[in-house]
Amino acid sequence: MTVAVVGGGISGLVVAQQLRTDGKAVVLLEADSRLGGNVHTRARDGFLLEAGPNSFLDREVVTRRLTTALGITGRIRAADVGAKNRYVYTRGQLRAVPGSPPAFLKSDVLPWSAKLRVMAELFTPSRPNAEDESLAQFGRRHLGRTATRVLLDAVQTGIFAGDVETLSVEAAFPALVKLERAHRSLILGAIRSRGAKQKALPSGASEPLLSGALSTFDGGLQVLIDALSTALGDVARTNAQVLALVPMPNGWKLIVREKGETSELLASQVVLAVPAHVAAELLDPIDDTLADAVGSIPYAPMVVVNLGFAPGTTPVPDGFGFLVPSEEKRALLGAIHTSTTFPFRAPPGHVLYTCMMGGARQPERASQDVDSLAALAREELRALAGVTATPVLTDVVRWPRGIPQYNVGHLARMAAVDALVARWPGLHLTGNAYRGVGLNDCIVHGCELAEQLATH
Ligand SMILES: Cc1cc2nc3c(=O)[nH]c(=O)nc-3n(C[C@H](O)[C@H](O)[C@H](O)COP(=O)(O)OP(=O)(O)OC[C@H]3O[C@@H](n4cnc5c(N)ncnc54)[C@H](O)[C@@H]3O)c2cc1C
Repeated sequence: MTVAVVGGGISGLVVAQQLRTDGKAVVLLEADSRLGGNVHTRARDGFLLEAGPNSFLDREVVTRRLTTALGITGRIRAADVGAKNRYVYTRGQLRAVPGSPPAFLKSDVLPWSAKLRVMAELFTPSRPNAEDESLAQFGRRHLGRTATRVLLDAVQTGIFAGDVETLSVEAAFPALVKLERAHRSLILGAIRSRGAKQKALPSGASEPLLSGALSTFDGGLQVLIDALSTALGDVARTNAQVLALVPMPNGWKLIVREKGETSELLASQVVLAVPAHVAAELLDPIDDTLADAVGSIPYAPMVVVNLGFAPGTTPVPDGFGFLVPSEEKRALLGAIHTSTTFPFRAPPGHVLYTCMMGGARQPERASQDVDSLAALAREELRALAGVTATPVLTDVVRWPRGIPQYNVGHLARMAAVDALVARWPGLHLTGNAYRGVGLNDCIVHGCELAEQLATH
């Protein structure tokens, strides 16, 4: 019998495509009129605008295998060399984030006292207990208060748009906790890991060569969605909203509203690849404990404002972009210098900024009207980056549930969710709410789940 995948974002698409490749009967049901979920590239006035994610790191072998299977590896475009530098807005101006220990010593991103405190990280004592702690608590133990408020806050803002005081370090940044457990000090761990990586080179010849670079595709991230959509053909059904799930003796019945008609679909397995609140609504009639656990995963709303400028009206900004720590109390979370990073995403000579607002810091932004959000983004760019020109393109996208927040307690909640899901044969959850919000995470977990289902 068929596997039904509910949700046609990157997570659901990957599960369905992998199952199809393995010759399994699969159907994907997507409520919206288009596939892709958060991933949505649009061409406007010569600009390539991303409504959601802008890039992925080309360092995940599973993602590379997927692009190779889809025939789109040749369309991957790495960030331009001009995007090498990154900036943080701190103490009233944009300051470059140093890329090496000597550069860190020379840099003005932190005051001297804070830099000395970061260097003292080498002497961080071992952690007495393994209880979940916030990113801020972890940061203060290792790097001190100022580096936590400026640098760690900026880093998490760029990924979670969250709150450094509430995000769980282990759920949101597991690599940091692994480094601590293995080496006690993060600096020591980073030095040793770099040495180990160099010794391990060259890597296995059968694996594709990964650039490690921040990347997209020549037509934006939509290229990946379109390739998955083509590979799935009529297996992927849009305008098909799953209204209810009913457990059956040998599987599941799905009630689907498709193009105005309501119908039933029988499946041996169901994969819920929908946002957590939708999964909770579907699960509530059959298991309210599971529904409560899934539905209590919070989301940070996001606002994305793309601003395009005509040639010569504003300087070409250096680097990938900048992030703004919450202590600055600004509306802007950060901005990507999109035309510097991926020059083909703007017409020649034009400058494209992608501004992010909202997040856990200012959730109310996502319910603000688009004109006032556009005006606010322009005002913030003027104040923080000195951009005074009038844009020739303005595009505002609001995500009321933008990015799931892995707050302290997330891993315990996930363990409970796993145990509860295991009581329902043939039910599976995947997607960005659970074990990683990045595109690479969604692809890795989608592939893992498909493999598990294929061997069922
Ligand atoms: C503004 C923003 C910027 C980001 N930037 C980056 C970045 O630069 N790099 C990066 O790696 N990640 C980034 N992310 C994160 C990444 O984009 C997401 O984590 C990922 O795309 C989520 O994919 P998903 O398939 O798990 O969920 P979604 O994309 O949310 O897909 C879920 C799908 O389920 C569908 N659905 C809902 N209800 C039903 C129903 N009842 N029946 C059927 N279908 C239903 C929805 O319509 C949707 O298509 C960003 C996210 C946002 C919002």
